[in-house]
Amino acid sequence: MHHRKVRVRFAPSPTGPLHIGGVRTALYNYLFARRNGGDMILRIEDTDSQRFVPGAEDYINEALAWLGIKIDEGVREGGAFGPYKQSERRDIYRQHVRMLLDNGKAYIAFDTPEELEAKRNTHPNFQYDASTRMEMRNSLTMSAEQVRDLIDSGEKYVVRFMVEPGRDVVVDDLLRGKVTINSSVLDDKVLYKSADDLPTYHLANIVDDHLMEVSHVIRGEEWLPSAPLHVLLYEAFGWSDTAPRFVHLPLLLKPDGKGKLSKRDGDRLGFPVFPLEWHDPKSGDISSGYRESGYLPEAVVNFLALLGWNPGDDSEIMSIDELTERFSFDRCSRSGAKFDFEKGKWFNHKYLQDKSNEQLAELFIPVLRDNGIDTEAFDPAYIAAAVGMVKERISFVRDLWDHAGFFFRRPDSYDPKAVKKRWSDDMPRIMEELIEVLRTLPSWKSAEAEPVVLAWIADKGYHLGNVMNAFRLCVVGACKGPHMFDITEIMGPDETIARIRLGIENIKTPQA
Ligand code: GLU
Repeated sequence: MHHRKVRVRFAPSPTGPLHIGGVRTALYNYLFARRNGGDMILRIEDTDSQRFVPGAEDYINEALAWLGIKIDEGVREGGAFGPYKQSERRDIYRQHVRMLLDNGKAYIAFDTPEELEAKRNTHPNFQYDASTRMEMRNSLTMSAEQVRDLIDSGEKYVVRFMVEPGRDVVVDDLLRGKVTINSSVLDDKVLYKSADDLPTYHLANIVDDHLMEVSHVIRGEEWLPSAPLHVLLYEAFGWSDTAPRFVHLPLLLKPDGKGKLSKRDGDRLGFPVFPLEWHDPKSGDISSGYRESGYLPEAVVNFLALLGWNPGDDSEIMSIDELTERFSFDRCSRSGAKFDFEKGKWFNHKYLQDKSNEQLAELFIPVLRDNGIDTEAFDPAYIAAAVGMVKERISFVRDLWDHAGFFFRRPDSYDPKAVKKRWSDDMPRIMEELIEVLRTLPSWKSAEAEPVVLAWIADKGYHLGNVMNAFRLCVVGACKGPHMFDITEIMGPDETIARIRLGIENIKTPQA
């Protein structure tokens, strides 16, 4: 076969939010196209008017943009092979249906749903194919005149593909090799419906792949059963020589067992299966999304890329550019990939560590505001320093509040367990003494303040753990957080001492 430009397409149907598996399909198309200097097409397959969902197309565009999956040709981007929305290509499909009718590869059928149902009831394994088509109401069993009369009288009809039985059909898949199936198992698929003047998925899909000069059809494994029919359609049109190569990607599997990953798994185990939050326009239901759950797009991309592909060594953290550099189908797996969402969190954690404290502070500000903090009152350098002390502990930006919220709000309660363990009747007096020690500190730098305070504790013969934890309780509200003197270094003397005073007033010795 002659060499030609790599052109791939992601061809979602706007029937709802893009599932995370669909996102991976889009990503692999994108990586493959970029790796090979090719084009990435986004085609909207909206020929099933019954299943159309408003907002789904915008959702797809927004999700791909958020993830950094760039489209070269599409409804928004334009391009030389448009329109890129199938509902705007009716004329093209009509012409192509005509071509198949004219060369005897397809025929017109009038059987009503009721008639087909009746047939199924009397013939248990009924399939509309070479063995039955001559018993049905179609242009093969009627005269040309009858057919014309019925159409003229407004009778609804479909156009069916005439599958020639008993032939080996070979689907050549880049991952699976040659898969052969016998054409006798295929039925005479409907290619076009006069009722809405629209083609079915099969016809539109292969006509567009041909006209858009698609070189590789990269899609989910669930489409593999359609591939033999597609091979026969290319042949019927006389396009076999330029037919695209197939790549059917393995399924994403449940995290805890066999079977396809579903939305229910996400609900059950607490992770999103959609890139962005989705508001169902009909039911009003809201489904969580990776973006709104606090994932960074680069972490999601990295995580998804490794679900079904590996770089050949133990590299894990790879930017979309590095992924592009290394991507190939040679390293794609044929078996399903378990959806390990804990690993997804790990990627997010890793990508957060790569952000500077200033970048993280920027992301943290909205969280602070949501928690009622007047962020204007704080120096950006203070916010960045606070974030820097706790970032190792977080997997999501919102977790920063749990770990660093105390930097921005004085304690309004004190962990009762810690109070019970660390606070005693003489603690208020010891904390008063601590205030005096802190007042005379030559420096608030952590490394310089610490030895002075520790020497005072030793000198007085106090219990180190109790005093330091009481100190911490006053400043943080609980016995947790970063190194005590790192905290006080950035908080400074006024705030630190004010918090100790507050603790002395408000922490009550528990009554035994
Ligand atoms: N419209 C189909 C889908 O929703 C496209 C399948 C294909 O890529 O051929 O996934």
